[in-house]
Order: sequence, then C-alpha cells, then structure tokens
Amino acid sequence: MALIGAHISVAGGLHKAYQRADAAGCEAMQIFTRNQRQWLNVPLSFREIEEFYRTSKGSSVKKVVSHASYLINLGGNGPIREKSEQALISELERCSQLSIGDVVLHPGFALEDTWEDALAKVSASLLKVLEATSDMKVRILLETMAGQGSVLGGDISEFSAILDHVEGHPRIGFCVDICHVFAAGYEMRTHESYNRLVDLLDKHVGIERIHCWHLSDSKMERGSKKDRHQHLGEGTIGLEPFSMLVNDARFENIPAILETPKEGMGDEGNISVLRKLRGE
Ligand SMILES: [Zn+2]
Ligand SMILES: [Zn+2]
Repeated sequence: MALIGAHISVAGGLHKAYQRADAAGCEAMQIFTRNQRQWLNVPLSFREIEEFYRTSKGSSVKKVVSHASYLINLGGNGPIREKSEQALISELERCSQLSIGDVVLHPGFALEDTWEDALAKVSASLLKVLEATSDMKVRILLETMAGQGSVLGGDISEFSAILDHVEGHPRIGFCVDICHVFAAGYEMRTHESYNRLVDLLDKHVGIERIHCWHLSDSKMERGSKKDRHQHLGEGTIGLEPFSMLVNDARFENIPAILETPKEGMGDEGNISVLRKLRGE
C-alpha cells in the first residue's frame, strides 16, 4: 500500500517536520528544504543535517520527498533559466546531504515558445542538471499540472516527450497530482476511469517511474484548468480515486502526500479519512 502523508512545515528547523509529521500520523512527508519563494540559497549547516538525520530515527515517516522552489522555470529565458538550473542543482545537493531520495519539480512554463520548443528546452536543462549531479542518487520527479496558461505538464503525453528527450534517464520520475490531472481534464472518479488513468500514465511514463502522488480534492470542475485544492471528499472529485489509490498494490510504498488546506479538518482529519479508506 501507498505511504500516507502530507506536506509538512519546516518552521523552526528542518528536523521539526518529523515531529509534526509523527503527530499527524504520517508514514511519508513532503517538505521544502529552503524558502520556496526566494532565490537565496543558504547552505545547510552540519548541525541541521545531523539533527534531521537524528530525528528521522524513531520517526514513523519512512520516506521524505522535497518540493523544489516555485520560482524554478526550466522553460524560462536567459538569466531565469540559468538561475533555475542552479537552484535545482543546489536542491539536489541539499537532498543528497539530507538523504532525501526525490525532489518534486513543476516542469515549467512555455511562455512565448511553442510547446515542442519548450519541452526540448526543459529537457536540455534537466540533462544539464543531471550531469552536474551525476555523483548523486536523488531523482527529479516532474509533477503533473492543472494546465493553466502556458504551464507545461497539463497533458500527460508531454511527459513522454520529455522522457524521449532525456533518453529515459533513470533519475527522472513523476509525481501525479490527482487534483491537477482532474483540473486538466482527466476523469478518475470511478473504478473504470481510475484504471484508465493509471493505464494512460503507464503508457506515457511507465508506472514504475511514479514515485509520488499528491492528494487533494478539487474546488473546481473537471477540465477547469484551475488549481484549487480542497479537503478529501469535500470537493468535485469525491473519495473514490483516493480509496482506489491507497489500496492499489501497484503503488506499494509510494508516498501519497496530502496537499489539502491546513485549516478546517487539517492534515489529521484528511489522514484519518485515508486510513478509513484503507479499512483501518
Ligand atoms: Zn507542486
Ligand atoms: Zn496544486
């Protein structure tokens, strides 16, 4: 079965995330290893790394994924693209130091480029970053997006184009966000449509490359291309796909990370919904 978890705050120090995740009952967690809205990259201190490692012992969290900065756009131009590559390289370095195996990354924006040019550009940058970090094991997980504006990754077939460009590089994987794929237009609210979506993912990226799921219901209709997260069972998606996912043997030990709103029932409430769906 998937590892149930949530995006957890690192306020007060990276290691505090483990304490919060344990309190919420997480088996996996996603964190930002740095301020996700600033370019500034302060290197990790030995003490931070050591505390993070020490707190991991005895925690119920089995896997940690990092979410890369929102500022990174590998489809950007000139200095933005260069800054993005550097920021991604330093994120991979941080994760390597913290023994975090996966970094979730938004594929980027096409801006004024054609879709094909943008995908080629993103792929070239990914290869550059992978080359610069070839001594590390950390994978980059490209996240499926809601398809708003010129954002890349709303159409699942775009990921197979990227995979072709990077020649199936073993350190490229995927993070499937249920709310985003629904907003992008894919159906998964029944047993049949959930399985069709998994088949489609298998066809374009291979399910063995899916190393993370993002879980939230949606405030918007299917195909709205709008990214608005909602508590599980309180949006337009309903509980069925989440129930299918957390019981799906094909995603054994894969983090299923809640990105539901922090107010209201919060992480604890959504985690207990997932546990019930798992029959606990
Ligand atoms: Zn994301
Ligand atoms: Zn989202």
